Amino acid sequence: MADTDKYMAATITRRVDHAEDLFTIWLRPEEGLAFKPGQYVAFGLHDHEQKVLERAFSIVSCPAEEQLEFYIERVQTGALSPRLYDLGIGDAVLMRKKAKGIFALDTVSGHTKHYLICTVTGVAPYVSMIRTLLREEAAGHPFGGTLVLMQGAATSHEFAYAREIEAAAKQVSWLTYIPTISRPWEDLEWKGERGRVDDLVRKYSDQLGLAPEETTGYLCGNPGMIVNARGILKRRGFGDKAIKEETYWAPGEGEVEY
Ligand SMILES: Cc1cc2nc3c(=O)[nH]c(=O)nc-3n(C[C@H](O)[C@H](O)[C@H](O)COP(=O)(O)OP(=O)(O)OC[C@H]3O[C@@H](n4cnc5c(N)ncnc54)[C@H](O)[C@@H]3O)c2cc1C
Repeated sequence: MADTDKYMAATITRRVDHAEDLFTIWLRPEEGLAFKPGQYVAFGLHDHEQKVLERAFSIVSCPAEEQLEFYIERVQTGALSPRLYDLGIGDAVLMRKKAKGIFALDTVSGHTKHYLICTVTGVAPYVSMIRTLLREEAAGHPFGGTLVLMQGAATSHEFAYAREIEAAAKQVSWLTYIPTISRPWEDLEWKGERGRVDDLVRKYSDQLGLAPEETTGYLCGNPGMIVNARGILKRRGFGDKAIKEETYWAPGEGEVEY
């Protein structure tokens, strides 16, 4: 059975399906969960030996929200995500009592520009950061920096948070959102940027003046994208400390198109 010092029950209160394998769930944990924007928490279900089969998930919601929100991809061959996909409102998972992670907005270097790069569900920590900054702004504490968020996916159906981010980008001058798709022939209505997100890293770094002296780069999601984008940022002059990474699975484990 789950160790009650480590785990608590968290009940699904809402679910939205975005595309075939992409869904958002809202969870209400039985105890509160303290976290910072950009962090993740592990949760899961009992396996057949009554051990907890758990995985890490970045938190989409911001700390001020009552429920925890997660944007999840069902990995067809995966052990946990297909089981999570089968859950509905009222079902519960076992959640760690502590959030973890150091993938936070850089407040140490003095950089004022933040180049946020991700694939599909890797947008989760950035949404939490943006929601937090918007709330701070509404409370009279304007954000002094700029965020450029670039998200890659095969088709636009995977941009579940696009409407929210685009609305935020219209509301504040410090946010730019660039979604890009790698399979435009499957998405003929798409009018936006095309190509894999890592292939556009240099272009927008130059075009938007994201110079290494004043910019921190953030890479989240697909490990293949992270390896490529890291190389491009380094060649552009970004130092190791100016690149933050959140890799969702081990490189080389699964070549997944993005
Ligand atoms: C810090 C952190 C935060 C994360 N946040 C999220 C999140 O917000 N949303 C989310 O959906 N996932 C997130 N993940 C990934 C998540 O933890 C699981 O790896 C994922 O749900 C698959 O688990 P599984 O048990 O179904 O598959 P597993 O049985 O663990 O994996 C099977 C294989 O599938 C591949 N794989 C794993 N994840 C993916 C993926 N997303 N797409 C394609 N192939 C994959 C790998 O090759 C892996 O070896 C995060 C991972 C980390 C480390």
